[in-house]
Amino acid sequence: MTAPTDISLWSVNPCARLAGCLDEFVDGRLDRAIEALALAHMERCPPCRVMARHALRYRETMRRVGDASVAPADFVQRLRFALRRGVEPPPA
Ligand SMILES: [Zn+2]
Repeated sequence: MTAPTDISLWSVNPCARLAGCLDEFVDGRLDRAIEALALAHMERCPPCRVMARHALRYRETMRRVGDASVAPADFVQRLRFALRRGVEPPPA
């Protein structure tokens, strides 16, 4: 079985890896090493940033209706930071 936490696979197809563990990722439940790979990949891959942003927004909506666990605050901070980096200009 291919676990999304297999680090070696991230160098082969990082987009598929990120998609495969997006739920765990936005919940802050990923292994720290994997989380770092995901964040680093997102910073240089616009499609994955968009994907993560949508997933995060969805999670926050679910949280508001009380249907999802709350991700660790420090992780959410790292994720938001990664989402702001990359090709897009920072919000004015
Ligand atoms: Zn990607």
